[in-house]
Amino acid sequence: MKKLRERILEEGRAINENVLKVDSFLNHKVDPKLMYEIGTYFREYFSGRGITKIFTIESSGIAPAVMTAMQMDIPMLILKKQKPNTMSEDVYQTTVHSFTKGADYELTLLKKYICEEDKILIIDDFLANGEASLGAVRLVEGAGAKVSGIGIVIEKSFQKGRKSLEEKGYDVYSLARIKKLEKNLIKFII
Ligand code: 5GP
Repeated sequence: MKKLRERILEEGRAINENVLKVDSFLNHKVDPKLMYEIGTYFREYFSGRGITKIFTIESSGIAPAVMTAMQMDIPMLILKKQKPNTMSEDVYQTTVHSFTKGADYELTLLKKYICEEDKILIIDDFLANGEASLGAVRLVEGAGAKVSGIGIVIEKSFQKGRKSLEEKGYDVYSLARIKKLEKNLIKFII
């Protein structure tokens, strides 16, 4: 997605060789128009698969996920990173290692919001080692539902996430794929 690559080049900041900050349009301040266009790309790529729900991981996946859900006219669910006190009902949970925080969290989903007939599209802001996406996959499949695709806004292709997901047979569609990060240098595959 050309417009996304341009924004990354203009406003993204590689804080080291592994982490990119895009606080001005995705991770802190959010550009709704760009998120809407991102939703259009995901809808075009994933339509026709009978997808029933979009799952994302709180919090930076929410903006692109909700825009995609609106355009596909299906519900969107936020997988929580811990079980809030208000969630007293039955939940599915799985442990995920956070790439940015270097710590584990419990990805949580209320059982009543998924059923065996569901076909789920997982959307997230970044793909690094694939831990977050694989956690979401475990929750979906643990509930007996199907993962119909994984949509990523920014993929760091030099990390192992895509390979891990593709090896397990999942279709990963990323709107920007970064080949290399260095201070003051961002190189794309596409
Ligand atoms: P993974 O689980 O694929 O290893 O990492 C993906 C998750 O970590 C995403 O949900 C995202 O929040 C965070 N993340 C990974 N790499 C980056 C990065 O370079 N920049 C930012 N802002 N978040 C990242």
